[in-house]
Amino acid sequence: LRKNIGSVVDLQPVDWEDIGGLEEVKTEIRQSLEWPLLYPNALKRMDVTATKGILLYGPPGCCKTTLVRAAATSCHVTFLSLNGAQIYSPYVGESERLLSETFQKARALSPCILFFDEIESLIGKRSSGSGQSRVQERILATLLNEMDGIGASLDQKMDASIVHNHGDDEPTNKSQIINESSRIIVIGATNRPDMLDGAILRPGRLDKLIYVPPPNELSRRAILQIQTSCIPNNGLDLLELSKKTEFFSGADLKNLCKEAGLICLRLGLWQENKAIVTQEHFLKALDIVKPSLSEQILKQY
Ligand code: ATP
Repeated sequence: LRKNIGSVVDLQPVDWEDIGGLEEVKTEIRQSLEWPLLYPNALKRMDVTATKGILLYGPPGCCKTTLVRAAATSCHVTFLSLNGAQIYSPYVGESERLLSETFQKARALSPCILFFDEIESLIGKRSSGSGQSRVQERILATLLNEMDGIGASLDQKMDASIVHNHGDDEPTNKSQIINESSRIIVIGATNRPDMLDGAILRPGRLDKLIYVPPPNELSRRAILQIQTSCIPNNGLDLLELSKKTEFFSGADLKNLCKEAGLICLRLGLWQENKAIVTQEHFLKALDIVKPSLSEQILKQY
């Protein structure tokens, strides 16, 4: 049975404005992702080597996947998303074939973002020699091969295009150069950078590491602002809530808003569409929703 993977994801659009806080991370991602995908010639002319691969790492529920979706939305490029379960197969050679086919698809549909969520499940550290780790080793070898290939084909095509350009300041046929280039950026996301095989982090691979931190008080306020903006409420004290939510991830804050809404519905006049969420509902919700992060967890990063 041949698995069919790597299909173009029906990307649910995410605006950069839907993401609270993380301003520096957003800027860094835009530079290392949007510039090479959208303006490769400008980078080439400045002799800046474009990033081929980015690793987003940080605690769970803190926006890694959402950031990649926002970048893909704003670039308007093809977005292919995969996880370990989609690629992993116990049949010899099957995982490698699936991975190579995905890269082929990415090349055909470039410019393209190829996203590996929870990448540690795909290419964890080489260890025991068990069946699973042998598959992981082969997946890693294929991934490294494919990533090395992206650079080679991009550089060759860019060089060829620029030679034909006779050294003009502006490329004579800029759109042609851009279209011809197989521009693919590979992005991995992980909560466990310590589990990754070091080979994937070497230069020319996932060599741009971006830490996505947990939200601080200011960011929590910004996230709550975004997440409560579509909930009917009578004016919430977000400052108080942001102070009371230390160690909450963005996902936890989302849960908190959902729980406050449910509490309100349970107590309120929901039949008449009059339910309004109040600060009290949020404070009650805080008794139920607990933070998923802790000092101990954050120490790992
Ligand atoms: P995991 O590592 O568990 O896969 P993640 O870091 O990829 O998690 P996301 O899946 O992007 O996190 O986020 C989980 C949910 O929390 C999403 O619905 C997202 O919208 C929300 N969220 C997290 N951080 C933020 C933020 N800074 N602003 C707005 N929403 C956020």
